[in-house]
Amino acid sequence: MPAARVLVVEDEPTVADVVVRYLERDGHDVEVAGDGPAALRVFDEFRPDIIVLDLMLPGLDGVEVCRRIRSESGVPIIMLTARAGEADRLAGFDFGADDYVTKPFSPRELAARVEAILRRTGRAESGGDLLRHGDLRIDRLARTVSSRGGELRLTAREFDLLLVLASHPRQVFTREQLITAVWDHDTETEENTVTVHMRRLRAKLEPDPSRPRYLKTVWGVGYRFEP
Ligand code: CA
Repeated sequence: MPAARVLVVEDEPTVADVVVRYLERDGHDVEVAGDGPAALRVFDEFRPDIIVLDLMLPGLDGVEVCRRIRSESGVPIIMLTARAGEADRLAGFDFGADDYVTKPFSPRELAARVEAILRRTGRAESGGDLLRHGDLRIDRLARTVSSRGGELRLTAREFDLLLVLASHPRQVFTREQLITAVWDHDTETEENTVTVHMRRLRAKLEPDPSRPRYLKTVWGVGYRFEP
Protein backbone atom coordinates (compact mmCIF):
# COMPACT_ATOMS: atom_id res chain seq x y z
CA MET A 1 0.00 0.00 0.00
CA PRO A 2 1.68 3.26 -1.09
CA ALA A 3 1.61 6.16 1.34
CA ALA A 4 -1.55 8.23 1.28
CA ARG A 5 -2.35 11.79 2.26
CA VAL A 6 -4.54 11.76 5.34
CA LEU A 7 -6.35 14.78 6.79
CA VAL A 8 -7.15 14.45 10.50
CA VAL A 9 -9.78 16.90 11.75
CA GLU A 10 -9.81 16.94 15.55
CA ASP A 11 -9.82 19.79 18.06
CA GLU A 12 -8.45 17.77 20.98
CA PRO A 13 -4.65 17.82 20.59
CA THR A 14 -4.08 14.65 22.62
CA VAL A 15 -6.45 12.66 20.40
CA ALA A 16 -5.05 14.23 17.22
CA ASP A 17 -1.47 13.47 18.30
CA VAL A 18 -2.04 9.79 18.88
CA VAL A 19 -3.93 9.37 15.60
CA VAL A 20 -1.17 11.20 13.70
CA ARG A 21 1.49 9.03 15.33
CA TYR A 22 -0.20 5.80 14.23
CA LEU A 23 -0.89 7.00 10.69
CA GLU A 24 2.63 8.32 10.22
CA ARG A 25 4.00 5.03 11.47
CA ASP A 26 2.08 3.41 8.60
CA GLY A 27 3.99 5.72 6.27
CA HIS A 28 1.24 8.23 5.53
CA ASP A 29 1.58 11.95 4.98
CA VAL A 30 -0.70 13.50 7.63
CA GLU A 31 -2.07 17.01 8.10
CA VAL A 32 -4.19 18.12 11.07
CA ALA A 33 -6.98 20.72 11.16
CA GLY A 34 -8.29 21.85 14.56
CA ASP A 35 -11.71 23.21 13.58
CA GLY A 36 -14.31 23.09 10.80
CA PRO A 37 -13.22 26.10 8.72
CA ALA A 38 -9.57 24.94 8.90
CA ALA A 39 -10.69 21.49 7.74
CA LEU A 40 -12.22 22.94 4.56
CA ARG A 41 -9.16 25.08 3.92
CA VAL A 42 -6.69 22.23 4.41
CA PHE A 43 -8.91 19.96 2.32
CA ASP A 44 -8.61 22.38 -0.63
CA GLU A 45 -4.86 22.75 -0.35
CA PHE A 46 -3.76 19.29 0.74
CA ARG A 47 -6.15 17.21 -1.42
CA PRO A 48 -6.17 14.25 0.98
CA ASP A 49 -6.83 10.65 -0.09
CA ILE A 50 -8.86 10.06 3.06
CA ILE A 51 -10.24 12.15 5.97
CA VAL A 52 -10.61 11.25 9.64
CA LEU A 53 -13.25 13.70 10.85
CA ASP A 54 -14.32 14.37 14.43
CA LEU A 55 -18.03 15.09 14.84
CA MET A 56 -17.83 17.72 17.60
CA LEU A 57 -15.74 20.62 16.33
CA PRO A 58 -15.61 24.37 16.92
CA GLY A 59 -16.62 26.58 14.01
CA LEU A 60 -18.48 24.09 11.87
CA ASP A 61 -19.35 20.67 13.21
CA GLY A 62 -18.27 17.44 11.54
CA VAL A 63 -21.64 16.85 9.89
CA GLU A 64 -21.50 20.22 8.14
CA VAL A 65 -17.85 19.74 7.14
CA CYS A 66 -18.75 16.31 5.76
CA ARG A 67 -21.68 17.75 3.79
CA ARG A 68 -19.61 20.52 2.25
CA ILE A 69 -16.75 18.23 1.28
CA ARG A 70 -19.22 15.71 -0.16
CA SER A 71 -20.74 18.40 -2.37
CA GLU A 72 -17.49 18.50 -4.33
CA SER A 73 -15.61 15.28 -3.61
CA GLY A 74 -16.01 11.56 -3.14
CA VAL A 75 -12.97 11.34 -0.85
CA PRO A 76 -13.41 8.62 1.81
CA ILE A 77 -14.38 10.01 5.24
CA ILE A 78 -14.19 8.21 8.59
CA MET A 79 -16.26 9.99 11.21
CA LEU A 80 -15.27 10.02 14.90
CA THR A 81 -18.22 10.26 17.27
CA ALA A 82 -18.26 10.85 21.00
CA ARG A 83 -21.09 8.60 22.10
CA ALA A 84 -22.06 5.03 21.49
CA GLY A 85 -25.35 4.99 19.61
CA GLU A 86 -24.60 8.29 17.93
CA ALA A 87 -22.84 6.52 15.08
CA ASP A 88 -25.93 4.42 14.38
CA ARG A 89 -28.14 7.48 14.50
CA LEU A 90 -25.86 9.42 12.16
CA ALA A 91 -25.47 6.52 9.75
CA GLY A 92 -29.27 6.57 9.43
CA PHE A 93 -29.12 10.17 8.15
CA ASP A 94 -26.42 9.27 5.66
CA PHE A 95 -24.18 12.33 5.67
CA GLY A 96 -21.89 10.57 3.29
CA ALA A 97 -19.31 9.25 5.75
CA ASP A 98 -17.80 5.89 4.74
CA ASP A 99 -17.28 4.64 8.27
CA TYR A 100 -17.94 5.63 11.89
CA VAL A 101 -15.69 5.08 14.90
CA THR A 102 -16.93 5.69 18.44
CA LYS A 103 -14.74 7.37 21.07
CA PRO A 104 -12.86 6.26 23.02
CA PHE A 105 -11.36 4.23 20.20
CA SER A 106 -8.24 2.19 19.75
CA PRO A 107 -5.84 4.09 17.46
CA ARG A 108 -4.64 0.77 16.13
CA GLU A 109 -8.18 -0.08 15.06
CA LEU A 110 -8.68 3.34 13.48
CA ALA A 111 -5.41 2.96 11.54
CA ALA A 112 -6.57 -0.48 10.37
CA ARG A 113 -9.84 0.98 9.10
CA VAL A 114 -7.94 3.69 7.25
CA GLU A 115 -5.84 0.99 5.56
CA ALA A 116 -8.94 -1.05 4.70
CA ILE A 117 -10.65 1.91 3.03
CA LEU A 118 -7.48 2.92 1.18
CA ARG A 119 -7.06 -0.63 -0.11
CA ARG A 120 -10.64 -0.68 -1.30
CA THR A 121 -10.55 2.72 -3.01
CA GLY A 122 -7.02 2.11 -4.30
CA ARG A 123 -8.21 -1.01 -6.06
CA ALA A 124 -11.12 0.85 -7.57
CA GLU A 125 -8.79 3.51 -8.89
CA SER A 126 -5.97 1.38 -10.22
CA GLY A 127 -8.08 0.04 -13.05
CA GLY A 128 -10.10 3.21 -13.38
CA ASP A 129 -9.73 6.64 -14.81
CA LEU A 130 -7.44 8.11 -12.20
CA LEU A 131 -3.66 7.91 -12.51
CA ARG A 132 -1.67 8.77 -9.44
CA HIS A 133 2.05 9.33 -9.33
CA GLY A 134 3.54 11.09 -6.30
CA ASP A 135 1.64 14.35 -5.89
CA LEU A 136 0.17 14.13 -9.39
CA ARG A 137 -3.38 13.00 -10.08
CA ILE A 138 -4.43 12.65 -13.66
CA ASP A 139 -8.11 12.12 -14.35
CA ARG A 140 -8.51 10.67 -17.86
CA LEU A 141 -12.24 11.25 -18.10
CA ALA A 142 -12.43 14.72 -16.60
CA ARG A 143 -9.12 15.58 -18.34
CA THR A 144 -7.84 17.33 -15.24
CA VAL A 145 -4.46 17.21 -13.56
CA SER A 146 -3.81 18.29 -10.02
CA SER A 147 -0.75 18.38 -7.86
CA ARG A 148 -0.13 19.47 -4.33
CA GLY A 149 -0.60 23.10 -5.34
CA GLY A 150 -4.08 22.41 -6.77
CA GLU A 151 -5.41 21.94 -10.28
CA LEU A 152 -3.04 22.61 -13.18
CA ARG A 153 -4.24 24.52 -16.21
CA LEU A 154 -3.10 22.48 -19.17
CA THR A 155 -3.98 22.88 -22.82
CA ALA A 156 -5.52 19.88 -24.60
CA ARG A 157 -2.18 19.01 -26.25
CA GLU A 158 -0.25 19.33 -23.01
CA PHE A 159 -2.75 17.06 -21.31
CA ASP A 160 -2.56 14.45 -24.08
CA LEU A 161 1.22 14.55 -24.04
CA LEU A 162 1.31 14.02 -20.28
CA LEU A 163 -1.30 11.26 -20.47
CA VAL A 164 0.63 9.26 -23.08
CA LEU A 165 3.82 9.41 -21.04
CA ALA A 166 2.25 8.89 -17.59
CA SER A 167 0.16 5.95 -18.81
CA HIS A 168 3.40 4.13 -19.65
CA PRO A 169 5.76 4.98 -16.79
CA ARG A 170 9.49 4.58 -17.59
CA GLN A 171 8.81 3.72 -21.23
CA VAL A 172 10.88 5.90 -23.55
CA PHE A 173 9.00 7.67 -26.36
CA THR A 174 10.72 9.25 -29.33
CA ARG A 175 9.49 12.65 -30.49
CA GLU A 176 8.13 10.97 -33.58
CA GLN A 177 6.10 8.51 -31.48
CA LEU A 178 4.71 11.34 -29.42
CA ILE A 179 3.70 13.26 -32.54
CA THR A 180 1.87 10.17 -33.79
CA ALA A 181 0.14 9.69 -30.43
CA VAL A 182 -0.75 13.29 -29.65
CA TRP A 183 -0.89 15.26 -32.90
CA ASP A 184 -2.88 14.52 -35.98
CA HIS A 185 -1.02 12.24 -38.38
CA ASP A 186 -1.82 14.38 -41.35
CA THR A 187 -0.54 17.67 -40.07
CA GLU A 188 3.06 18.58 -40.55
CA THR A 189 4.23 18.56 -37.00
CA GLU A 190 7.88 19.15 -36.47
CA GLU A 191 9.82 17.46 -33.73
CA ASN A 192 10.58 20.87 -32.32
CA THR A 193 6.87 21.22 -31.48
CA VAL A 194 7.22 18.38 -29.02
CA THR A 195 10.19 20.11 -27.39
CA VAL A 196 8.22 23.34 -27.05
CA HIS A 197 5.18 21.62 -25.55
CA MET A 198 7.36 19.63 -23.22
CA ARG A 199 8.96 22.83 -21.97
CA ARG A 200 5.53 24.39 -21.26
CA LEU A 201 4.26 21.23 -19.61
CA ARG A 202 7.30 21.09 -17.34
CA ALA A 203 6.87 24.74 -16.39
CA LYS A 204 3.34 23.96 -15.17
CA LEU A 205 3.95 20.56 -13.66
CA GLU A 206 7.45 20.37 -12.29
CA PRO A 207 8.39 21.86 -8.93
CA ASP A 208 11.75 22.73 -10.53
CA PRO A 209 11.40 22.69 -14.35
CA SER A 210 15.18 22.86 -14.84
CA ARG A 211 15.54 19.58 -12.95
CA PRO A 212 12.43 17.59 -13.90
CA ARG A 213 11.08 15.10 -11.40
CA TYR A 214 8.49 13.47 -13.68
CA LEU A 215 9.23 14.32 -17.30
CA LYS A 216 12.74 13.11 -18.01
CA THR A 217 14.72 13.71 -21.17
CA VAL A 218 16.46 10.67 -22.59
CA TRP A 219 19.26 12.27 -24.55
CA GLY A 220 19.33 11.44 -28.23
CA VAL A 221 16.08 9.47 -27.97
CA GLY A 222 13.11 11.31 -26.46
CA TYR A 223 11.27 11.39 -23.16
CA ARG A 224 10.01 9.17 -20.43
CA PHE A 225 7.78 9.58 -17.38
CA GLU A 226 9.36 8.79 -14.01
CA PRO A 227 6.64 7.59 -11.59
CA1 CA B 1 -14.05 17.23 19.27
